[in-house]
Amino acid sequence: MQFDEIIKDTNFSDADKPNLIDYSKQYNDFDWNRDAYSKLEWLPDGGLNNAYECVDKHVKNGYGDNLAMIWLGKNGEEENYSYTDFKNESDKFGQVMLDLGMQKGDRVFIFMDRLPELYFAAMGILKAGGVIAPLFSAFGPDPVKDRMLDAGASYLITSPDLRKKISPILKDIKTLKNVIVVNKDNRFTDPLDDGDLDYNKLMSKADNKKFKMVNTSQYDFSIMHYTSGSTGKPKGVLHRHQAVVQQMLTGHWALELSHGDIYFCTADPGWVTGTSYGMIAPWTNGVTQIIYEGGFGAAKWYEIIEKYKVDIWYTAPTAIRLLMRAGEDVVKKHNLSSLRFIGSVGEPLNPEAVVWGERNYKLPIHDNWWQTETGAIMCANYPSTNIKPGSMGQPFPGITMGILDDEYNELPPDNSGILAVRPGWPSQMFAYWKQDEMYNSRFKKGWYITGDQAARDKDGYFWFQGRADDVINTAGHLVGPFEVESALIEHPAVAEAGVIGKPDPIAMEIVKAFVTLNPGFEQSSDLRKELIRFSRDKLSAGVAPREIDFLETMPKTRSGKIMRRLLKARELGEPEGDISTLEDD
Ligand code: AMP
Repeated sequence: MQFDEIIKDTNFSDADKPNLIDYSKQYNDFDWNRDAYSKLEWLPDGGLNNAYECVDKHVKNGYGDNLAMIWLGKNGEEENYSYTDFKNESDKFGQVMLDLGMQKGDRVFIFMDRLPELYFAAMGILKAGGVIAPLFSAFGPDPVKDRMLDAGASYLITSPDLRKKISPILKDIKTLKNVIVVNKDNRFTDPLDDGDLDYNKLMSKADNKKFKMVNTSQYDFSIMHYTSGSTGKPKGVLHRHQAVVQQMLTGHWALELSHGDIYFCTADPGWVTGTSYGMIAPWTNGVTQIIYEGGFGAAKWYEIIEKYKVDIWYTAPTAIRLLMRAGEDVVKKHNLSSLRFIGSVGEPLNPEAVVWGERNYKLPIHDNWWQTETGAIMCANYPSTNIKPGSMGQPFPGITMGILDDEYNELPPDNSGILAVRPGWPSQMFAYWKQDEMYNSRFKKGWYITGDQAARDKDGYFWFQGRADDVINTAGHLVGPFEVESALIEHPAVAEAGVIGKPDPIAMEIVKAFVTLNPGFEQSSDLRKELIRFSRDKLSAGVAPREIDFLETMPKTRSGKIMRRLLKARELGEPEGDISTLEDD
């Protein structure tokens, strides 16, 4: 069947959802102060704190017995935590951090799998005025070292296995005061490394009654995530407590999160979706979150949805493509009728996936767009509005998005160009950590330049077209080519490396490297395997190249810059474009 026919065959209209409020149209004159900030709880003495909005306010308002978290361990464990439990545990951890001497604004890195302690720690750190910097637990030592060094990390919370993985680099982080190790259920038997602190011991001594929240203001820093660019190492994107207002409201309006809902977000807290929509948005809206420690598994995910009667499911296109590949039979074996809403973010969502969802889950999948720098959803296919399959939807109330030409002038509808946003939204990044020039370069003629190319249609829906830079999006995770190239050239055989994203039917793109060799090294399949292994150990399997080709010479500009664009065009058999700056061989 042709795609057009499939679309005709399905129903993307809101005719059957008369009770939903169309938030995209409700406010023509939406005002963040009047219509959004007033919905926050605020601290008793006027400050604002993400963790208070997520946890304490529910206890204060009489919802302490509601479940905040159902944790499902990878070995079949289940643990339930009410909002009161969550408050007690996070207060205790806040006290632990204050006792250790943590100061307001200190950067605390969290390098852990999805364990309940990760969330207790994150909320405790925020309450005690610290800045959380979560890291993807699959990272190898190099990305961890780069990020902790850059941020001047003061503390690290980790688990014994991950601590071991990065042990050699920790001595280089001179700002690091303490390493706190969470040995969940004594899964590991080795004693802690000298000087490390045991989370369980610290918590058993901590007194949550003694804890007094630090009075953070909306302008204090809260969360830092590293994101990749085309050039240089990843940049620390710094957010403030103020972001919570947009995370809460988008959680409610774009994802339908409400008190008592059961919510399953598959993103890892090492990436921004895992904090904005895996912590802040759901808990500010008072939901019960399913936290599953394991990774992707079609049958396992469906089993979770069925068993816990998940209402709302937020996932990513790569996962959806894998679910489609797993097939319809496995869907039919499960009762997924509890599902009310499915959302997707991180990469373009194929229109076919929207249709597949409608057919198999009896619900279309709602795509929305945002990025680490925006901190929260900016543009969405709302529960209440008609989905346009393949589109990222319409801007959130109070957000102005535009399509610009190369001179940063706004284009009328039905044009493609640079995707830009009018600055001033509440969850806007405050800075790239210590990279003011880079930060300033993202603002032109009164617009924030997103780094994406897109189009807008006459109905105001935005359509993603691609990245405007060399950043690779693999399985929804951004990878900076420079980071991979830097790792490869540390191998004695590699003289130069150029890295590109190669289209892939499941992961959208895979990381592909081209290398030239130093004298004395021969091209061979063993060397290729060795280089892949080498970069996996340094970076992680997800970031390391999946394919490596050897080149005799690397295409470079006369000023010596590797022409990744040309590498990509040659790989894809596309026209090479303007090569007037190409260095002579
Ligand atoms: P990150 O900062 O890691 O969250 O990545 C943000 C980038 O992911 C965006 O700038 C886009 O390139 C891509 N992205 C996020 N959401 C979408 C979407 N719904 N459709 C297309 N690309 C997306």
